[in-house]
Amino acid sequence: MNKEFLIATHNMKKRDELYRILSPLGIDVKTADQLGIEITDVDETGETFYENALLKAQSGCNESGMPCVADDSGLAVDYLVGAPGVYSARFAGEHGNDAKNNQKLLKLLTDVEVPERTARFVSVVCCVFPNGDIVTARGECKGYIGFEERGNGGFGYDPLFMVGDKSFAELTPDEKDALSHRGNALRLLSEKLKDYFSEQ
Ligand code: IMP
Repeated sequence: MNKEFLIATHNMKKRDELYRILSPLGIDVKTADQLGIEITDVDETGETFYENALLKAQSGCNESGMPCVADDSGLAVDYLVGAPGVYSARFAGEHGNDAKNNQKLLKLLTDVEVPERTARFVSVVCCVFPNGDIVTARGECKGYIGFEERGNGGFGYDPLFMVGDKSFAELTPDEKDALSHRGNALRLLSEKLKDYFSEQ
């Protein structure tokens, strides 16, 4: 079984999280750049995290001929009935503008008290193999939206996402991995991949 996997992401911080959690499994994860190949930047047209993760992993696998892992993730705020959800990266209109996304979120929650500021990060990770097999896992992390940005670590909504009295951006990478939606999804994925490899 080939354990060299392509990671379909251009987000370097997300890629680092994937590396940290999957390398102990003996899976040699590489970006398209490291492999010296180009992969298409797939439009995330799915309506669920699963659909988008699958689209990205399937496209990466087809184009590279290698097993490909991709994740789709986002923030679901209860007061906003699950928004921004699959639109998390482009919540304020411009893909990946974290500062504007965070400002918009704070504005929408003006005068909303803590009990109603509950939220969860969701991550769905998909691994697609050249023979068409799919191994997938979902992880969540519950918290609430703070009243101001805190901390310098992480990315995206991390400075606003509070777990207890700290934001995700105030945690070390290891502390974040231990709690995060992506950490939970990847730990489950690694268990499922162990089973998958043992059945081959
Ligand atoms: P994706 O790259 O399509 O999965 O988009 C994910 C978007 O959700 C990112 O651009 C962030 O805005 C947000 N997001 C996902 N995971 C995290 C995280 O761990 N911390 C902060 N924001 C996240």
